[in-house]
Formats: sequence, C-alpha cells, structure tokens
Amino acid sequence: MLFHMSDIYRQPDSKNLLVRSHAAVWHPCSQMKHHENFPLLPIARGSGVWLYGYDDNRYLDAVSSWWVNLFGHCNPRINAAITDQLGKLEHVMLAGFTHEPVVQLSERLGELAPEGLGHCFYASDGASATEIALKMSAHYWRNSGKPGKTQFISLENSYHGETLGALSVTDVALFRDAYGALIRQQATVPSPDWRKAAAGESSEDYALRCAAALEQHLQQYHQQLAAFIIEPLVQGAAGMAMHAPVYLQRARQLCDEYGVHLIADEIAVGMGRTGTLFACEQANITPDFLCLSKGITGGYLPLSVVMTRDEIYQAFYADETARGFLHSHSYTGNPLACRAALATLDIFAQDNVLAANRDKAAYMNEISRPLREHRAVHDWRNTGMIWAFEAESPHRDFAQRCFALALENELLLRPIGKTVYFMPPYTISKEEMGLLVSRTLQVIDQLS
Ligand SMILES: *Cc1c(COP(=O)(O)O)cnc(C)c1O
Repeated sequence: MLFHMSDIYRQPDSKNLLVRSHAAVWHPCSQMKHHENFPLLPIARGSGVWLYGYDDNRYLDAVSSWWVNLFGHCNPRINAAITDQLGKLEHVMLAGFTHEPVVQLSERLGELAPEGLGHCFYASDGASATEIALKMSAHYWRNSGKPGKTQFISLENSYHGETLGALSVTDVALFRDAYGALIRQQATVPSPDWRKAAAGESSEDYALRCAAALEQHLQQYHQQLAAFIIEPLVQGAAGMAMHAPVYLQRARQLCDEYGVHLIADEIAVGMGRTGTLFACEQANITPDFLCLSKGITGGYLPLSVVMTRDEIYQAFYADETARGFLHSHSYTGNPLACRAALATLDIFAQDNVLAANRDKAAYMNEISRPLREHRAVHDWRNTGMIWAFEAESPHRDFAQRCFALALENELLLRPIGKTVYFMPPYTISKEEMGLLVSRTLQVIDQLS
C-alpha cells in the first residue's frame, strides 16, 4: 500500500466512518475500488484554509474543496448571516413568491456584473446553470422566429458540467465514450490554450489564430447555431488551460456579427478567481448569458445563477405560457444560500479583497520560484488566484500518488492528470503560502 494512513486507522471514530462510508455512500468522481488502496479521508471540522481529521491531523485546502471556498472554512461572517436567516425564513418556493435575500442578491449582482446583465435566473448547481443558459438561448431564437437555431459550440477540452445537456457541450473523452449514446454531442472549435502556440508565437497571436477557426465555423453554421459557450480565461477541468483575453474580445465581435449568443460559464472563474470579480471584465465584454455557481456562496451552500440581458428577457415576456421560460428547480433562490452569497459579496467589499489578492498573488509568484525552477516542473502558469504546472514523473498513477503524498505533507492537492494546481481560499496567509510551496516542492521532488 502506498498510503500510510495508519494514524487514521488507529482512530476508532475515523475507522468506523471509513467503513460505513465505503458501504453506504457512492462517492463522486471516484472509482470506488481504488479506495481499497487510497482510503477515504474522514474530516471532522474546518477552520480557515485548514481541514482537520479526527486525529487532529490537518490539511491545507489548496483546491478550495473543488474550487468553491473563497474565505475559509467556518467563516464567522458567513456563519452569522446564515444563522440570522435561519431564524427568519429557511425556504419558500420562488414561483409566485419572493423574498428579501433573492431580490437583494439579484440587484447587487446586476450592479457588479458587466453592464446590461440585469435579469437573474436561479438554480442550485453549475450543471443546471449550463442547462438553463442553453435552453434560454435556443428558446429565445424560437420566440424570435428562428426555431432552426438549436445547436451549440464549445472549445476543445471544454467542461460545463455533467448532466446530459451540459455533457453535450463538454469535451472530455472519458465521458464521451461512456455516455455519448445518450446525448446530442455538439461541435468544438480549437482551444486558445497558450501551451498549444507554435514556437515563437505569442499567446495573443495564437488566440487570434483560434478565433479565425471560430469565425470559419460560425460562417458555415450560424443559421443552425444558438450559442457559443466558453469558460473565460481559464479552462479549469481541462487542467487550468489559460488563454489571452483577446480571444474573448474577438469571440464577442464574431458572435455579434453572426447572430449567435455568447455564454460565459464563469462557474469556476467568477467571484474574483482570475483577479477581477468576473473574468469577462479583463476583455471588457458583456456576454449574453453569465453563469455563476461554485464560489458564489463562499463555498457554503449549493446555488447557481444565470444572468442575462433585457432584450433576451423581453423575448419571453408575453401572454402565452409557452413563450415563457420553462424551467424550475425546487430550491430555486433558496434564502439561506442567497444570504450566504450576500455575506460573500459583503466580504469582497469590506475587505477590499481584489486588491488584497493582487498582493497575495505577487507574493506567491515571488516565493514560488524554487518550485517553478525545479527540473520536473513545466509550463508554470498563473491567472489571478490560480496557479498550475505540469509535473514530469515516471508514475502513470501520478495524480493518485501526488494526492496521497501531499496529504502526508499536510496538503490537499488534487492533480488533474499530471497538472498540479493551486486554487486556495483567498484568506490564505503568507506563512500558509510558504508552506504550500515548500511542501509541494518536496512532493514533486519525491515523485519525479
Ligand atoms: C464545476 C463546473 C461546472 C459544473 O458545476 P457543478 O456545480 O459541479 O454542476 C460547470 N462549468 C464549469 C466551468 C465548472 O468548473
């Protein structure tokens, strides 16, 4: 066995949880049999960037628990907001009813988002936000006398969620093999991922070359196309593939020119992750649909939102029910989740988080030099509060080994293939960044 979790096995509570979890819980994104060699890790509590096991071993949550946590675990301000709301109204259906938290959140998001996205439609998870944006786009065209516009395009290696509609615009070979027969797979266009640039070609030039391929596709198929969906600036699940903002500018122009919607899936990159509150700001564009989830509640509660423009909203505004948007989730606009999101926005404003993150990112870039210069580290990259690199390692099961060895070094890292990335909570301190870098260096050194 690779993984020395003897401490955990010595703890009766922890051992008991492991066995029961393995028997009764089907865990996501996992081959359950692998847990015979890589045991599940029971977590008892969290505080700041740290997660604690029952044995009091601690783990620095360098991936923000799948990219959702912004201001640390058990953040007192978010806890207080949820507790306050809990005493007033835990939930009411949003069809036919409304409440203060959902109205306030919609107004504040409307003020913060790129100009013109004044209408908010809510759901509970990222994949549902993708579904909503796709349906809204095609339904808009239908309501506008263009019922033939029902197809979509996404980038190569795109990821927009794993429900069947979202999978149709997700380009992951493993999923396509397993579920391809169930979906209507949509076309992809070349990704402006700068690692694919030719020798001597700048990331901007490469982005423009990819935009030319997008233009060709739009030219040929625009009559059938409803929308182009993109993860702006960073394709997360592809392994933190980063591209130049000029691609988004060009995509916006081309979508306007060919009458195709632009959907910005900012589920992972929104809420300050790329250095601006929304990634689209760095290209100075307004998408037709903006999808948010993951960090929107600070990592507390499931919530997602699709924001759109007035012209699109107006195309649904009519006497007939069938012209209205047909989509509903039981927990749409849940008040507790909305309060967590409002508390998250308060922290952004009160702590001047975007400016503080710029300083933290600069510090991280400075102290990470020894890691960046390690012989087994390639394609070091950074956008805002995301860092990633490719690790050179002879191990085919590098991701699992790295995960296990990192835990022994008090780090929660979860590589995507041989891509190691940091996406820490914004509350990470300088000392914690130092620990993250030095321990990662040890892990990479041992596995290379
Ligand atoms: C995580 C993610 C999704 C899916 O969100 P879920 O809440 O996991 O359904 C969609 N798009 C992007 C870019 C994501 O990172």
